[in-house]
Amino acid sequence: MTTTPSSRSAPQPGRVLLASPRSWCAGVDRAVLAVEKALEQYGPPIYVRHEIVHNKHVVQSLQKKGAIFVERTDEVPEGSIVLFSAHGVAPTVHSEAAERNLKTIDATCPLVTKVHREAVRYAQQDYDILLIGHEGHEEVIGTTGEAPDHITLVDSPDDVAGLSVRDESKVVWLSQTTLSVDETMETVDALKTRFPLLTSPPSDDICYATQNRQSAVKKLAERAELVIVVGSKNSSNSVRMVEVARNAGAPAAHLVDFAHEIDEAWLERVTTVGVSSGASVPDTLVDGVLEWLAQRGYDDIETVTTADESITFALPHELRHNLR
Ligand code: SF4
Repeated sequence: MTTTPSSRSAPQPGRVLLASPRSWCAGVDRAVLAVEKALEQYGPPIYVRHEIVHNKHVVQSLQKKGAIFVERTDEVPEGSIVLFSAHGVAPTVHSEAAERNLKTIDATCPLVTKVHREAVRYAQQDYDILLIGHEGHEEVIGTTGEAPDHITLVDSPDDVAGLSVRDESKVVWLSQTTLSVDETMETVDALKTRFPLLTSPPSDDICYATQNRQSAVKKLAERAELVIVVGSKNSSNSVRMVEVARNAGAPAAHLVDFAHEIDEAWLERVTTVGVSSGASVPDTLVDGVLEWLAQRGYDDIETVTTADESITFALPHELRHNLR
């Protein structure tokens, strides 16, 4: 049962370990700014195909400013402006938009575009591509669409036994950008055992933001009895952070969109709470959680820094021209 702070007998003094880095990554920052700039430049409505980033608060804020979120291109009225989300889209989506005379702004994260390019390049060289990722995730749908005849999705090591390829000397693995680093490497090890000539991508597909947030949350898990990750349930990297915290030994780890979703019962006998947030989460939501904890006696905040992030991406080039 959730109780109010006043209903607890006495505030329990406690400590908060605050992860750094946390919250927005460069790709999310760019995508959200792209919607805001498009609204400013062209006025509402601006159509956005799929949630621009997987965060409830961000989507609701942009809706209030005049963004209309749709799941399919044919929901966008002919001739309108449509923005593609940070997760990327398949080439067929670009063709559908052209058929409807839509003006497009592509806010695909450059690190997702990198994986698309790898898929195209290996397909042109006639490789079989084993894409490690989660079925149905928007990013996986987009990447698979670049080379559907060459890509096979691999969800976990359990899938490896059932795989077959045309030529074992021409097989490469790629991955979704927001997976668990440790689980992905388990799948890669299983793939290497099955296909000893397996080619690896030239650089990590799991992006810097996902890796950094997972490393930081592992540090929290070593010292906190409870880890709270701020993020939405459909955010792959946020969900992975909760799993990483549990696997790293945190006795409890929970995902919340907002501070009011925290159950006060989670704090029983907890002296140290770890707090972090997914790459699609604005830091104001973390501030809300810190405030909620401070009201309950958890007001001694120690920042646990595991990496410095200074990456930024330029806005989509379409915003530098007049689309109308
Ligand atoms: Fe780009 Fe990684 Fe952020 Fe996704 S999580 S938008 S891939 S930087």
